[in-house]
Amino acid sequence: MENIQGFLILNVYALLLIVATSIIFFSKKRQKQVEDQTYAKFLITNIAISISGLILGVLVSPGLNINPGIVAIANKVYLICLLIWIAILTFYTMYISLNNKEKTEKLKMTFYIITLISIALIMCLPINVEMVDNAALASGPAIIFTYLVFGIGFITQLICIIIDHKNFKNKKYIPIYLLIVCGVIVLIVQMLYPTLNYLVNPALIFIAFIMYHTIENPDLNHIKELNLAKDQAEKANRAKTDFLSNMSHEIRTPLNAIVGFSECMLDSNDLKETKEYSQDIVDASKQLLEIVNGILDISKIEANKVEIIPKNYNPREVFDGLRKLVLPRIKEKPIEFKMVFSPDLPGILRGDVAKVKQVVLNILTNAAKYTDKGEIIFNINCINRLDTNICLMYISVKDTGRGIKKDKLETIFGKFERIDEDKNTTTEGTGLGLAITKSLVDLMGGRITVFSKYGEGSTFRIYLEQEIVSMEIPKIEESDEGEITYHDYSDKKILIVDDSKINLKVAETLMKPYNFEIDTALSGEEAIEKVNNKQYDLIFMDIMMPKLNGVETLYKLRENEDFSVPVIALTADALEGTDEKYLNVGFNSYLSKPIDRKLLNKVINKYLKG
Ligand code: ADP
Repeated sequence: MENIQGFLILNVYALLLIVATSIIFFSKKRQKQVEDQTYAKFLITNIAISISGLILGVLVSPGLNINPGIVAIANKVYLICLLIWIAILTFYTMYISLNNKEKTEKLKMTFYIITLISIALIMCLPINVEMVDNAALASGPAIIFTYLVFGIGFITQLICIIIDHKNFKNKKYIPIYLLIVCGVIVLIVQMLYPTLNYLVNPALIFIAFIMYHTIENPDLNHIKELNLAKDQAEKANRAKTDFLSNMSHEIRTPLNAIVGFSECMLDSNDLKETKEYSQDIVDASKQLLEIVNGILDISKIEANKVEIIPKNYNPREVFDGLRKLVLPRIKEKPIEFKMVFSPDLPGILRGDVAKVKQVVLNILTNAAKYTDKGEIIFNINCINRLDTNICLMYISVKDTGRGIKKDKLETIFGKFERIDEDKNTTTEGTGLGLAITKSLVDLMGGRITVFSKYGEGSTFRIYLEQEIVSMEIPKIEESDEGEITYHDYSDKKILIVDDSKINLKVAETLMKPYNFEIDTALSGEEAIEKVNNKQYDLIFMDIMMPKLNGVETLYKLRENEDFSVPVIALTADALEGTDEKYLNVGFNSYLSKPIDRKLLNKVINKYLKG
């Protein structure tokens, strides 16, 4: 009697527990995941085990004397439930350890078939039920077979965990570990007290209950995803704030110099002093321009708007030009600058020369900036694959400068990454240079590497593949270096079109030395009117103007078939590649603002000389 009471209390309690767990589980909205679907089946099986176990327990309780045939059937139903239970748990373990959808689908079918065959076997195999000490004990082939299936399921689960041993701490394995512990306890208890078989059901249900807490809950998933998105948004926001504060600092520094020196100029009556101030203003303005261009480049790169524009170029001429650009930076320092070309460097290559120039100039400028004495070796090597007409250029810039600490080497290619000691020091820079360089090199399908020893120097290497156009080395054209010589064009008439009065003033001032007859127009319409009334020799046309922009004005002018005046586009967007755009729409040439006097001189001479 004690036995049946204990059985009822424990098993009813287990039934209540599993029903409550099922209600909670099914009442929550869930995504359709294999895990949840499997667990849903597992819960139903547990309820079935609980109910069939209870019925069986009641049927075999002493005094009832139920027909042994009915008891045997009830026992078989219970065994089938147990069998499905172990099949589901084994499938679940396999699913977790495999973590593969396709394989899981295949597994599912195999499990269905094996389970069906096993159910059929249990139905066929005989079972004996006998009463021992007021408790029913079942035995026979059906029971042995169920033990066997449990054993196989058990071993399969262990194998799965061993295979997936790296994740043995996965909390989803807790029910399996629990099964092992409970299984051993129940087995020991049953061996010592064979009549305490009513412990099996509560143990199984306890495992199912624990499993509920280890199942990946989609709600938790959502929370995780939300937290991740929140973190990312916060990170992006922080990056934006950092970017703005950096930008503000970088832009303010040269602006501060410009405003300060301009005020000094206003107060000064000494011409020499004024000239020095104006040189400082020019330097600060150039730095400001560099920053703006850097930001434009970065934003273009980030918006994937940078295109590769291949052109033929003479690498010797291009790299020598870069050498000339950096030399002024080191002229006051005891630095020897060496440039070495590989003798088999092709005469003409094809590639995006503007980007090649930009990236190489950047590492050359850095070498010049961060080296105080010693040498800078600019090496241009190559491997030519003549069968495919490809030249693998590797350009290295080795300096004996301050070097970069090992832990900083990885970060220098990041945006605004300046090494601490550079901040607030006299070495100007934005920390954008190497970020742009790396992005552009990547874009060209190349590679950039850096080796550095702190205190001894650095070597930057750029590897780029360029198309070989010709191996023959062309003669280098005469360079347009040195002081500008202004020709006298007092017989020429020019028109400058710009909607900004300041820009007109700047352009007029720059063109004064040529003694032109200069007219200005503040809009496209005004320009057309002036052109209709006067014969000009050259027109400079701003692109961005309200109403009629530069391109539209040019189209209108060209509508007149007799119109043959060269028109030069003045662009301020400084976006590389757009220059080509202006040539394509019909401008004779282009100049970016701020206007470089040497380039302006070149354009003027090209169209007016002779
Ligand atoms: P910056 O405008 O500051 O020069 P870069 O992105 O070009 O920005 O360089 C990032 C940082 O990497 C620099 O601030 C400097 O600390 C370091 N660096 C770059 N080139 C060299 C070099 N040749 N020698 C030593 N340090 C360098």
